[in-house]
Amino acid sequence: MPAGGSLSVAGAGSIPTPALAETADSPLARLAELIREAGSVVALTGAGISVPSGIPDFRSPGTGLWRHVNPMEVAHIDAFRSDPERFWGFYGERFAMLDGTRPNDAHRALVAMERHEQLDGVITQNVDMLHRKAGTRELVEVHGSIATCSCQSCSASVSLEQARALAADARDGVPRCASCGEPLKPDVVLFGELLPEQALGRARELCEAAQVLLCIGSSLEVHPVAGLPLLTHQAGGTVAIITQGPTPLDEIAAVRLEGDVEDELRALARALSLS
Ligand SMILES: [Zn+2]
Repeated sequence: MPAGGSLSVAGAGSIPTPALAETADSPLARLAELIREAGSVVALTGAGISVPSGIPDFRSPGTGLWRHVNPMEVAHIDAFRSDPERFWGFYGERFAMLDGTRPNDAHRALVAMERHEQLDGVITQNVDMLHRKAGTRELVEVHGSIATCSCQSCSASVSLEQARALAADARDGVPRCASCGEPLKPDVVLFGELLPEQALGRARELCEAAQVLLCIGSSLEVHPVAGLPLLTHQAGGTVAIITQGPTPLDEIAAVRLEGDVEDELRALARALSLS
């Protein structure tokens, strides 16, 4: 294969691939082999996969928007209930920042794998819709997504665009339910809230059945998602971690890749002959 080829995913543009040299016994070659031999492969993604798309991990204090506030306070369910104006001040900016962001090559590599039946699904902690935009079909968004907002009183639901229009028209910047006037809440899991049981159940099912679980761009520190790789491991599957920096589960990882997430996934797609 010529060096620096490109990976095409229908409707997703072309992915330029750098010329990285891989030897047959490199961790990456080993991972590709494991994936080829596995009956079931699942990916679990976190904030790190969206960083190349220009989305900072907003849970990290001192980075990105609202440098001087603690997101765990302002993006907390109690803050939404007690001070929706302040909450929407924060979330409105977050929506604006996510507006127009696009999937990157790491998202696209997972789509290519799925289309070639080398990936059964993606479980994501991200709410940014980038896996959807890239074209992932089997997607479990365990922290919800910003795609919709809903009324906590009557369950009415509006799209992201409608919520933003309502917020722009409201004097206090708080989008409200057309029926009952209650503040709308983004359908994301806020701090202080439990994960949606259905999504979590599906995530557990996928991880238990996975012969290879790819943990990508997640520090694997936020529970209960951080416990998912243990389900794969306990069921006899292989855990691979593709994340910069240490994670609490490095010990159980059969393969550990620490390079740039886009570079690693481009190289993986190439090793799987998807480019
Ligand atoms: Zn309502």
